Amino acid sequence: MRSYDREIKRLQAENSRLKVDSRRYRQLHRAQRQTHKAPERSVVQSIELVDPRCRVVAGTKVLPEFTPPLLIGQQMSRAIVSELRSMTMEIRELLKALVRSPNVKSAQDAISDDVQQKLRDLGNRWEKRFAALAAKWPKRMIDGIVSQSNAQLNMGLEEFAERAAIQATMNTPRMRAVLEAATQASVALITRIPEKFLGDVQTQVLNAITTGSGLDKLVPYLTKRYEGDARHAHFVALDQIRKVSESVNATRLQSLGVEEYVWIHVGGEKYPRKLHQSYSGRTFRYDKPPIIDERTKVRGKPGDAIGCRCRQRPVLNFTKIGA
Ligand SMILES: [Zn+2]
Repeated sequence: MRSYDREIKRLQAENSRLKVDSRRYRQLHRAQRQTHKAPERSVVQSIELVDPRCRVVAGTKVLPEFTPPLLIGQQMSRAIVSELRSMTMEIRELLKALVRSPNVKSAQDAISDDVQQKLRDLGNRWEKRFAALAAKWPKRMIDGIVSQSNAQLNMGLEEFAERAAIQATMNTPRMRAVLEAATQASVALITRIPEKFLGDVQTQVLNAITTGSGLDKLVPYLTKRYEGDARHAHFVALDQIRKVSESVNATRLQSLGVEEYVWIHVGGEKYPRKLHQSYSGRTFRYDKPPIIDERTKVRGKPGDAIGCRCRQRPVLNFTKIGA
């Protein structure tokens, strides 16, 4: 019973602290918007420099949070969505031509070899174009993440590690595995788009034929499908940037002997996770990740859950790392 009371007190304290934090943030944000003079950095820094922990531990220091290069994620998603739009328009023209074509009078004509061949040609062409995107953007994303991580590690760990030692963290087997997995996931996201899209369009064509609902119903379907895919590509591109960035930084920090981080909850999700909110300001060990999903009991670090925007603020322990 007593531990229960203590937990409630702790949560209440944390709640009021978070309230003060967010009130302070809003004030600063408003002040910044009104003056238009203060650089954006000052707002972020004034909050980052405050120790987020309830109890400060002697001999330790909490670094500012490391940020992902979200701009590259936005550029990547824009490039994907632009190709997706062109592909959708081409498919729409093809379908419209089919509807108008004097050769396609019956359902049977629409599944003729000629029509199927046209769809296949279109598919092959677009698979090549998406493959070109996949050859370009995942690499750019990784390069951007690594250079931002370099800059932030060099700045944060100045008094702590040599630049050479920080650079050496890029050449560990674990780091290579992280980058390899990240690249594969990103390539898969891009290359799967046309295959999945055209596969579904073909299914819809067949459905329209078998149910007799008419091929003209396919045009609204295409629009809806395009919008859904575009939203999804945008969401996944940004989510990947966040995840890979958090993983790269966590892996490098661990190679340098950093064992702990403070969890910083970042809102803005449609359904903010209560669990993540409750972790905010608490210290965790990299080798003992907490549960990040109440339903599946999966464990992980900030950014690992789908759509999670939480961040980590590494804790430098001078007594341990100096030894
Ligand atoms: Zn989160």
